[in-house]
Amino acid sequence: MATHKLFLLPGDGIGPEVMGEVRRVIQWFQDKGVASFELDEGLVGGAAYDAHGESISDADMEKAMAADAIIFGAVGGPKWDTVPYDQRPEAGLLRLRKDLALYANLRPAIVYPALADASSLKKELVEGLDILILRELTGGVYFGEPKEITELGNGQKRAVDTQVYESYEIDRISRVAFELARTRNNAVCSMEKRNVMKSGVLWNEIVTQTHKDGFEDVDLSHMLADAGAMQLVRTPKQFDVILTDNLFGDILSDVAAMLTGSLGMLPSASLGAADEKTGLRKALYEPVHGSAPDIAGQGLANPIAMIASFAMCLRYSFGMGEWAGKIETAIAATLDKGLRTGDIMQDGMKQVGTVEMGDAILAELDAVA
Ligand code: NAD
Repeated sequence: MATHKLFLLPGDGIGPEVMGEVRRVIQWFQDKGVASFELDEGLVGGAAYDAHGESISDADMEKAMAADAIIFGAVGGPKWDTVPYDQRPEAGLLRLRKDLALYANLRPAIVYPALADASSLKKELVEGLDILILRELTGGVYFGEPKEITELGNGQKRAVDTQVYESYEIDRISRVAFELARTRNNAVCSMEKRNVMKSGVLWNEIVTQTHKDGFEDVDLSHMLADAGAMQLVRTPKQFDVILTDNLFGDILSDVAAMLTGSLGMLPSASLGAADEKTGLRKALYEPVHGSAPDIAGQGLANPIAMIASFAMCLRYSFGMGEWAGKIETAIAATLDKGLRTGDIMQDGMKQVGTVEMGDAILAELDAVA
């Protein structure tokens, strides 16, 4: 049995608490002899700043580069609000994304049946929702140059951000979209603004070209991003994989997130290029939520987003989709039994803490294994 090298970066706030529950799930897999993992752990964010004066040390970066997958908790908190900009906790995450060239950000929006009432949309619109937003993460307007504010000398200033994409960037993220769609419901909807942006024209052209170039079995549609935003809250179940750029993806993935009701439920993955020899992609898995300083250290955090991020790791890094599905089934069964952490608490349900939620998910995993 191959041993998978995992590098754990719990981070700050509730990060270590929710990571503790993932560690137990990993141990469960080891104990059952289902998979073999080699674990190492490092510091990131405020925790790394306190220890080394930087948001991630070079030694931990090296370990991250050498790992088969990184499991990341959360960073930040009021304690580090005044540290120098370059050493702020988020810089650790940005360095990981940049140095590992993690260009594909996967944000699934899944509504568990038991939580369909928690969405701000009508239950029938979101019940059974399972869509995936694929956002390009390393290009576009957040990184394009020039990026500046200049004094015009007449009391006015001018701010410039540059939306820029090269064809190779669009091609490689399109390939990820089509490959992912094949493992799901085989449909990709690409969103851009080709009616007003040149980068949208090129985006549309390259996605169409890549589709012709070996992915014609996948159903491809195109939508203007503003129309897509409307459709996402009107009839979200029409989508399978939504493929979009960095800026639109940032916004659309947050919209999709709220369809599901709670931040504490949402996993994500960021993938880079595949290794030429092993085919394994550089990969970082993390919950969408932050370090939740308001509840940190109290055993109240919902560990589901973190555990579901580990399930994504099994699916996308280690080809263990069936086991990922079992974790997701265990989560759904736990919710069906009425257990809730505070963030998803509803009338008539039983409120539990982080560890009890982890206990219940492990018990359900025993039942479905
Ligand atoms: P947050 O996601 O940390 O918290 C928002 C709200 O959701 C809070 O009320 C929190 O208690 C609740 N919440 C979040 N996750 C939860 C969970 N698993 N279980 C139960 N409740 C949960 O966002 P914020 O308050 O805007 O930011 C707090 C800190 O986290 C800031 O320093 C911010 O910069 C940082 N942050 C980090 C990341 C990251 O590490 N990727 C992402 C977002 C924010």
